[in-house]
Amino acid sequence: MKMVEKFKQLGISEHTINAIKELGFIDPTEIQEKSIPLVLKGKDVIAGASTGSGKTLAFGAGVIHNAKPDYGIQGLILTPTRELAEQITKELKKFIGNKKLSVIPIYGGMSMGRQIEQLESAEIVVGTPGRILDHLSRRTLNLKYVRTLVLDEADRMFDMGFRDDVEKIISQCPKERQTLLYSATISPEVVMLAEKYMNNPIEVSAEIHVDPEKLSQIYYDISDGLKFSLLKYLLENEKSELVMVFCNTRRNVDFVSNNLKAMGIEALPIHGGYSQDKRNRIMEVFHSSKVHVLVCTDVAARGLDIKNVSHIYNYDIPNEDKEYVHRIGRTARAGEEGKVINIITSRDYDNFAAVLKHNPGFKIKSETAPNVPRVQLKWMERRKSYGDKRTGRFGGRNDRRPSNRGLRRDSGSRRDSRPNDRKPSYGGRSSESRKGYEKRELKRRDKRNQGRGSRRNDSRSNSRGPRRDSRPRRDSRSRR
Ligand code: ADP
Ligand code: MG
Repeated sequence: MKMVEKFKQLGISEHTINAIKELGFIDPTEIQEKSIPLVLKGKDVIAGASTGSGKTLAFGAGVIHNAKPDYGIQGLILTPTRELAEQITKELKKFIGNKKLSVIPIYGGMSMGRQIEQLESAEIVVGTPGRILDHLSRRTLNLKYVRTLVLDEADRMFDMGFRDDVEKIISQCPKERQTLLYSATISPEVVMLAEKYMNNPIEVSAEIHVDPEKLSQIYYDISDGLKFSLLKYLLENEKSELVMVFCNTRRNVDFVSNNLKAMGIEALPIHGGYSQDKRNRIMEVFHSSKVHVLVCTDVAARGLDIKNVSHIYNYDIPNEDKEYVHRIGRTARAGEEGKVINIITSRDYDNFAAVLKHNPGFKIKSETAPNVPRVQLKWMERRKSYGDKRTGRFGGRNDRRPSNRGLRRDSGSRRDSRPNDRKPSYGGRSSESRKGYEKRELKRRDKRNQGRGSRRNDSRSNSRGPRRDSRPRRDSRSRR
């Protein structure tokens, strides 16, 4: 009983207190202590607290507190990635305990029909903007009863790629509502932007949660030709549990994971170019520790809470320095130790300089690279032929690129700031696969419509072309 006393003092409702007891949490974290009482009082809150500091429970306690069974969708939580939507849903289910509330994830790449069914009886929705908008335009989602709106990873949600969608969604929520913003990186610009949608928001923040003693950060400055060789060497020689290797582009993820696999290191690749089923399967395998290495783009940078990640490798330094903070936040969680290893070459210098400049508190130690043998790559980059194909077929952006850029980082043109689960565009896809896709899509739609009789919106959805959210974008701005 005494165990959860501090949580009780924050005003958390009984079902959630019981759930917390069951989970074995002993004390609230600082951000929970500071923000939960405000949230439960119905205030609008902008909360900044480092990765792994328990922000989900902080807003979750409010969303759950405010929702009543059978009163429609009263809680809406927006996230930048599908994986995070999935995770928050699972986490909230735990905090709901025995209260009769249904929380569902709504993101692209998954069956629309099932989501429509679930939406009919849900009280809390956790989703990515693209698919939420899709449901709104089909009128299969009604936000009229929303009392609590949460933007998790709020700064990301206000980035250019998401902002329009997020604004559209907000405009369909009632004016009388509570709005909560949570993130590890909240800038003054975000606060300014957010105030437009909030009602006298109160800002709270928590001190750094990760003990710097527990998180060590190093970098190796190495020639380009040895980058992969060093990664392989370290993966084989560092004593580690789960490992995440971050790359800036999908292509690099494929390049690194294929080469690792060819050399006998089991590695799971994940990026926005894979089907959602595959993404979910990969995350499951990684969560279960059956495979120890995940090679990923920033789809896995935000918010994911994976136990036992001991090492974060930056095979590329992110183009946006704040993403560095999110990437490394996947390790040294909940008092565990973690190590960050940056492998930089001359091409990473600019990005690395930006990381150092904006995070003066970070101690990233230079290490001398061990003498690693240069490994023979089995999978070469598809740069040349890929570029040629795109140029030939799609009236070429690429032909204006300098040809000597080497391994493209996709940095400039691919700002990676757009969500990957929005309306598909076909740049870069062959017309074959587009046709195939549309055919399948029409078939699916027919089937659905048969099942539902002549239900709403058919003409609308037909005229819109393929569904938003059902495939990753292939344009130049969303390649996570
Ligand atoms: P954040 O969103 O701040 O990165 P999460 O909400 O994902 O952090 O929480 C990180 C982990 O800490 C989760 O596994 C969560 O269950 C756990 N957690 C949350 N609150 C507490 C607490 N008060 N005590 C112990 N563990 C907690
Ligand atoms: Mg989080």
